[in-house]
Amino acid sequence: MQTEAPIYDVLNYLPDGIIMVDERGVILFANEAFSEMVGYDSDILLGLNMLSLLANIDVFQECIAKVMREGKSLNAETDFLHRDGHIVQSIKSVRMIQHNEHIRFFVNVRNLTETYLLNKELRDSKELIELQAHELSVLLNSKNQEIEEILSSLDEVIWYIDSQSLSLRYVNNAVEEIFGFSKEMFLSDTALWQQQIHPDDRALVQMFFETLRPGQSQAIRFRIFHHGGQMRWLNSRIHHHPKLNLFIGITSDITAPKAQSEEIAFLAYHDPLTLLPNRAKLKLQLENRFEYSASAPFALLFLDLDNFKHINDTMGHKVGDKILIEVSQRFRNALGIYDFCARFGGDEFVILLQDADKSSVDAMAKRLIQTFKEPFAVNETDFFLSSSIGIVLYPHDATSGEDLIKHADTAMYEAKNQGKNRFIYYDASMQQTLNDFLRIETLIREGLSQNYFELYFQPLIDSKTLRMEGYEALMRLPHPKEGFIPPDLFIPVAESNGDIHHLGKEVLSQACDFIDTIRLLRDEPFFVAINVSAKQLHQTHFAHELLTYLDKRGISPSFLKVEVTESAVMENIHSVSRQLTELKSGGIRISLDDFGTGYSSFAYLAQLPIDTLKIDKSFILSLFKESSNRHIVEAISNLAHALGMNVTAEGVEEAEHYDFLIENEIDTLQGYHLCRPLPRDEILQKLQDEVPYFTPAPSLGYTI
Ligand code: C2E
Ligand code: CA
Ligand code: CA
Repeated sequence: MQTEAPIYDVLNYLPDGIIMVDERGVILFANEAFSEMVGYDSDILLGLNMLSLLANIDVFQECIAKVMREGKSLNAETDFLHRDGHIVQSIKSVRMIQHNEHIRFFVNVRNLTETYLLNKELRDSKELIELQAHELSVLLNSKNQEIEEILSSLDEVIWYIDSQSLSLRYVNNAVEEIFGFSKEMFLSDTALWQQQIHPDDRALVQMFFETLRPGQSQAIRFRIFHHGGQMRWLNSRIHHHPKLNLFIGITSDITAPKAQSEEIAFLAYHDPLTLLPNRAKLKLQLENRFEYSASAPFALLFLDLDNFKHINDTMGHKVGDKILIEVSQRFRNALGIYDFCARFGGDEFVILLQDADKSSVDAMAKRLIQTFKEPFAVNETDFFLSSSIGIVLYPHDATSGEDLIKHADTAMYEAKNQGKNRFIYYDASMQQTLNDFLRIETLIREGLSQNYFELYFQPLIDSKTLRMEGYEALMRLPHPKEGFIPPDLFIPVAESNGDIHHLGKEVLSQACDFIDTIRLLRDEPFFVAINVSAKQLHQTHFAHELLTYLDKRGISPSFLKVEVTESAVMENIHSVSRQLTELKSGGIRISLDDFGTGYSSFAYLAQLPIDTLKIDKSFILSLFKESSNRHIVEAISNLAHALGMNVTAEGVEEAEHYDFLIENEIDTLQGYHLCRPLPRDEILQKLQDEVPYFTPAPSLGYTI
């Protein structure tokens, strides 16, 4: 190495890593930049195989093979492994040189992480060895083929100019690629390089040369125009040589890394899909407000699109993405110039409003709700969306960014609960409700994964024969640590977070197991009535999937009855009636649960494929407290029979209820007076004891 010294010293000035390897990859030379990049001293590197420093050997081997085949310089991206194990992302160009019958590869490695350049800039300039005059003259006057080859194989422009006149005295071939003028043109017009500097940067460059003291080295970034007109960013490391009165420079084109780093900076604070500020930017924005205008009130709105997940799941992410872009544009148009809107994640957005008085916040929230009025057209299909908005006021509701967002999120949940497509202001009581909700949600998830859910069965008694004609399946969650969680608590939570679908499958599976067992014990007809909530019935394939499941289990649909509440039917009569009709034609019977509470229209009722009206237990429980209830029960019984339906009464707690209901020709009875909901084994026990008949306790008669 020593005999070929001068040029290698020059190579040590370059900001890029340069290594020379033989055809096996053994490192014959490595400059300082490279040894810093990978963390090994250059004398350790000599003799080492370069492959051992690569994160991916294949890329390099392919590259070498291609260079050998085509004899050209090639660029490839590879990762090097730093001695401490971290990965150094880099671009390298490989060039083959045949020298004295040896094949050598020059590998020019450019660190993509800009930190490298910065570190190097920060290093003490004294560390850079002054170029010795005789070495320089060797370099400049040499006709040595190898030096010329090496200089022209570099992507960097190596040059020097007179320190007084700034006229160009030497430049290598690489200048052509960066400036678009040939080396010869530069050497004949020695001020050409200055004319190509961006007018806005000329003063900067001028000042740089005026202030760079002899013996000093510094780096500068400036813009130039390529011969073709494009602007480029250059990075130059320049040394003021005290004895030769020269500025010696090494210049590289950093347009791509610069654009990339600007993009990286942009992406760090923006969402790439909607180009809105992201969560990190929101955090900064809030921190700035707290720091510089802590006393200025503002409003924070948390928006979540309603049913967006459904669109994403059914129509695919591409459609979802297009909708999100459109939503963000509509928001931007609706907001004032001082308002701030960030994409918080998925289909959630956070908006900061400068005007925090109630009437302007109200007006803006209404405006944001209005932005959903027009459908979203994607691929010629119109999608109707809405948004639920939770609002908090700073400093009234919270004073930290975290709490503001948490409370706004809580208020947003409340807006969803109240029927979506609306805005709600946060108030402190909401937090408790939400905490309760989250606690139950956790217990449900645990119950599903640990198989804690257990189906109980409550007999339905035929009022004429007093036999068990069926069993209502009722879900129980006996939690080993939290105790018994009543369905009135977990069903609404499961309905609102979608877990009801998993729960429904669990009900069906346990109900079918029960049917299978009872079938072996009883050779007379019976049914199991399962409760199905509105959420389940709104699924387009609900009926189909249920029937398919029964078929798979080899269970006749006549063993199953479905209880739907009157309110679930009224909520979305068209889609529900479609599902009910499909169930019914598949052979499953339908019972309209909690009847009398849901304000059904009789006209609808007659059209639905209903077998049984199940009078809500509130009427039965207060049968003798209000005489109107007895009239209602009588009327429902008459109505059902007139429409060819059966009537069931639930909540039969007292002997008096029982007597009254029998007298009024209620077909089926259910209630604590007859039997409580029991675990499956206790029902089996009852059947084995051969007491399918009920002998209710005698009553003292009822009085009207
Ligand atoms: P529901 O469908 O109206 O069920 C009847 C409720 O009345 C059951 O309460 C039952 O235990 C109770 N009950 C029965 N006889 C009497 C009585 O004589 N007096 C009184 N006071 N109550 C009686 P449970 O089991 O607590 O269930 C409450 C609600 O939870 C059910 O009301 C139903 O809407 C829902 N639910 C229970 N299991 C499921 C399920 O598997 N899926 C769905 N979607 N909902 C379920
Ligand atoms: Ca029921
Ligand atoms: Ca009921």
